[in-house]
Amino acid sequence: MSDQYQALLSDSKKRALAYLSHISARRVFPDEAACKGLANFDEALPEKGRDAHETLDLMDRAGSPATVASMGGRYFGFVVGGSLPVTVASNWLSSAWDQVASSNVSSPAVDHMEKVAARWVLDILDLPEDCGVGFVTGATMASFTALAAGRHHLLKNQGWDVEQDGLFGAPKIKVVVSDEVHVTILKAISMLGLGRNNVIRVPTDENGAIDISQLPELGPDTLVCVQAGNVNSGAFDPIGEICDIARASGAWVHVDGAIGLWARVSGEFSALTRGMEKADSWATDSHKWLNTPYDSGVVICRNKVPMYRSMSTTAAYLKDEEEAAKDIVPEFSRRGRGIDIWAALRTLGRNGVRQIIERNCSQARFFASELKGMGFDIHNEVVLNQIVVSFGSEDQTERLIGFMQEEGTCWFGPTIWRGKKAFRISLSSWKTNDEDIRLSIMAFKKARAVITEET
Ligand SMILES: *Cc1c(COP(=O)(O)O)cnc(C)c1O
Repeated sequence: MSDQYQALLSDSKKRALAYLSHISARRVFPDEAACKGLANFDEALPEKGRDAHETLDLMDRAGSPATVASMGGRYFGFVVGGSLPVTVASNWLSSAWDQVASSNVSSPAVDHMEKVAARWVLDILDLPEDCGVGFVTGATMASFTALAAGRHHLLKNQGWDVEQDGLFGAPKIKVVVSDEVHVTILKAISMLGLGRNNVIRVPTDENGAIDISQLPELGPDTLVCVQAGNVNSGAFDPIGEICDIARASGAWVHVDGAIGLWARVSGEFSALTRGMEKADSWATDSHKWLNTPYDSGVVICRNKVPMYRSMSTTAAYLKDEEEAAKDIVPEFSRRGRGIDIWAALRTLGRNGVRQIIERNCSQARFFASELKGMGFDIHNEVVLNQIVVSFGSEDQTERLIGFMQEEGTCWFGPTIWRGKKAFRISLSSWKTNDEDIRLSIMAFKKARAVITEET
């Protein structure tokens, strides 16, 4: 038995190391031939089991070339990040453990390690130490979980028990979001039965932050979703000021800090992050800027009780004592995602996390100034790690994106900014170094020449 693990894990390790050692040399997005090779997977379900080594071999032969090289330093698409070496290793070891992270009965080790991870997350993000912390798949589920707690709280204050009686006939919740709200917040709102059509969108300024002068009236029936780190521009809403208004009115403030919550580790960004600790709930990702493997996000609530009440498997609404991990997040059985967070934080330390955040932001500023010098239009104030760029007309911008994606040195995707086609560059990987930026800028020079020539 152990021989089987020995041979297979060695095989997997050998292949993983080969994959990672070539990652910086290969094109970032797979070429057409590699994608065509995926047809090798199109077999009928085998009646008789196949050899495990041969299965790994197929995965590596057909799968590896068609992956996106986000583990290299030149993937700037969406907001992705890579995985720190220690987190790939901790992830493997925890797969070997195969623990259920529901409670201390299902796994004392995971339960304990996740409690440490939770304490460290609150510490490094400088949030109150008695907050509730849950480990989920990403910011989408983190916001879903936090907004479920908010829904519970607001309805309870109006004498309605939503967990028992549902939403039919419930008092209405007023949902206020930024006009630049991330699509996953709207998804969470729809999953919670609050209705996409019911949201009030607050206009934003030119950098994509809420214009506070246009904030509607907030009350004890209001759920306000603000963001720390606009997915395009990196802008922060005036969260502290909104929290002050919300506190006075009894509204619940939720912060989508998928990217920007991590800016709290550096004093460099204190003007942006100040006051955020006054919110009621926060969502963040660890698979983005903390550079842990997918999938991993964190939900944090100031008050643990509405978390338990909205997510408990038992009749937790009857009691206030601390519940198990399964009672504060949607999943009942799940992997111990907090382990990779623990491993990342322990290996990097506060300083190491700060260095990644500050380095990526300084790379973003440099990248933006180089592009600007080359005649590109930079549309945002580069306050964090995100750059919104266009080149000439919308048509030229589109062709430039196409050229760059085809050319392969780096990868980024299109976006719509203030109604116009643009593209977004996100610096969120621990792996990105000066050479990656230099090579990417050279590719941009080539693209600029070709697109200008064509026009
Ligand atoms: C990425 C992102 C999300 C969604 O996070 P997932 O981890 O993909 O669920 C939400 N909000 C913002 C601002 C993001 O950048």
